[in-house]
Amino acid sequence: MMRIGVLALQGDVREHSRMLAEAGVEPVSVKWPRELAALAGLIIPGGESTTIGKLLRRFDLLAPLQQAVREGFPVYGTCAGMILLADRVEGAGVDQPTIGGMDLTVRRNAFGRQRESFEADLDMPAVGDRPLPAVFIRAPLIEEVGPEVEVLARLPDGRVVAARQANLLVTSFHPELTNDARLHGYFAAMCAAARDPAAV
Ligand code: GLN
Repeated sequence: MMRIGVLALQGDVREHSRMLAEAGVEPVSVKWPRELAALAGLIIPGGESTTIGKLLRRFDLLAPLQQAVREGFPVYGTCAGMILLADRVEGAGVDQPTIGGMDLTVRRNAFGRQRESFEADLDMPAVGDRPLPAVFIRAPLIEEVGPEVEVLARLPDGRVVAARQANLLVTSFHPELTNDARLHGYFAAMCAAARDPAAV
């Protein structure tokens, strides 16, 4: 069975693991660089992006992940995880280490106080016709996408909340807090394709 890691420094590790299992993948909690080698891909959960960035550095995961991303290792960042994969961050902390790799500008805490948390059903053809339930919690927003980035979902007002660039997938929202595992299935398919391009 294909194994996909969930970065276990902060955030919804258990919920992502449950979703991966539902998508037919073996979930593995990851804390150390040596654990990356056996994996087909990695999920970076939400949480607080400055804290996760600092923990990545402290656990010696930052440079190995930057290199893995450059070499085509599939990574899916949700919420704070999306901030970590963006090349440009608006509202970044003074010392906010990021992995980067995706040609995006994201804005932290973009929805303001009134709408710190909300739910929405998104049109997302990449995962099927049925609307995808999405939970937003102090969510970042994708403000600009580069030419290589494919927009996968928008809010009804047009703002971009899910995108993909080659081996990298990001969502502003938390799919792991719903009962819909289709996005985890989509990421699992990305991981399978990255491993064995001929098979897809
Ligand atoms: N607001 C957080 C940040 O900027 C992200 C919130 C989340 O991951 N739910 O890091």
